[in-house]
Amino acid sequence: MALIVQKFGGTSVGNPDRIKNVARRVAKYRAKGDQVVVVVSAMSGVTDNLIKMAKEIMPIPNEREMDMLLATGEQTTIALTAIALHALDIPATSMTGAQAGIVTDDVHTKAKIKNISPKLVHEMLDAGNVVIVAGFQGQTIAGQITTLGRGGSDLTAIALAAALKADLCQIYTDVDGVYTADPRIVKTARHLPEISYDEMLELAGLGAKVMQSRSVEFAKKFGVVFEVRSSLNDNPGTIVKEETLSMEGVVIRGVSLDKNQAKVTLVAVPDQPGVAGHIFKAIADANINVDMIVQNISHKADKPSTDISFTVDKPELLKTQKVIEALKTKIGFSDVIADEKIGKLSIVGVGMRSHPGVAAKMFETLATEGVNIGMISTSEIKISVIIDLAKGEQAMCAVHEAFLGK
Ligand code: ADP
Ligand code: ASP
Ligand code: MG
Repeated sequence: MALIVQKFGGTSVGNPDRIKNVARRVAKYRAKGDQVVVVVSAMSGVTDNLIKMAKEIMPIPNEREMDMLLATGEQTTIALTAIALHALDIPATSMTGAQAGIVTDDVHTKAKIKNISPKLVHEMLDAGNVVIVAGFQGQTIAGQITTLGRGGSDLTAIALAAALKADLCQIYTDVDGVYTADPRIVKTARHLPEISYDEMLELAGLGAKVMQSRSVEFAKKFGVVFEVRSSLNDNPGTIVKEETLSMEGVVIRGVSLDKNQAKVTLVAVPDQPGVAGHIFKAIADANINVDMIVQNISHKADKPSTDISFTVDKPELLKTQKVIEALKTKIGFSDVIADEKIGKLSIVGVGMRSHPGVAAKMFETLATEGVNIGMISTSEIKISVIIDLAKGEQAMCAVHEAFLGK
């Protein structure tokens, strides 16, 4: 008898028929004698809609209340999924994140899992039930409801698979697995039978929302091998696992485009020791994640000043601007400029380590397309550039063709 964790994303539980489809799939595994833990997301569009309503009332809503609000999305689907299993005469019980023993820190809207004590999950499984756990949510030690960041149901599934020592972890979504690029944008994207944790981590962190990046980080840390596959067919998916030697032979595994970034530029910041520390400490204290940072060289020798630009997630732009404005008189920069019309285009591959010339080829391809590069950042296995959002998809297709076209 195997213990299987199966996660179904928003589209896969998007209406009652889709939920019945999930129940039928779960029933198939159960019929083989397996124990099944199901993790579900909110129905597609529900979380976005809840956020929209809150922001209509107040632009920067209280984060504890946002968690209280957003957790309701997943709570609807766990009950509906349990009901769909009951309709097939299968004993099933739904559980909130708290009931499943998911304990988090108290950073509302992007809490980290501290530990999982899945006692009730084990009890219910042993009593013959399918257990359906609400994704994306947990509870602090003090009993406050938290959520795990957008796409966080992936993390719930991976973390539960680790805590339960599951034999199999399957992430069901609306595509057949991980592709060389988002198949909705790049029509020639190819299906990947396997991908390493590090490559998946980079792609996910750089805009390939097929997996939440924190969930991949967790899987790597605890060695959870998982499969990404479609809930709409039985095609083989993508296995995400530790890097193997054969993976080095491929220079670029995938291309991603993150449209969810915004650039903030502080104009004429005094060029003195401690200023950057001051700015980024204030941003970190507000729990805002900064990605790329660029500082220009200062010119005027008498009163040196410099422009500092950095990127944050778009939903955090308003909060960031508020933090920065509060520093204005103390630090003495002249202006803050926000730009939401940017895209971050990236190429990822472990083979990049041993193949020179990759950056040059990417930049040349962008030049041929007439795409200007605003910022650049690299790591051992990725190159990212900030470009004009309007040219993002065109640039993505061109770069994909250059590296991964036939
Ligand atoms: P779920 O609701 O199941 O969690 P998501 O919408 O979060 O699903 O993620 C699936 C989507 O990710 C796909 O529909 C696809 O458009 C997008 N995606 C982006 N990059 C990739 C990629 N490299 N491979 C596959 N899908 C990708
Ligand atoms: N419902 C949450 C979201 O839309 C979590 C998830 O779908 O994984 O971000
Ligand atoms: Mg998702």
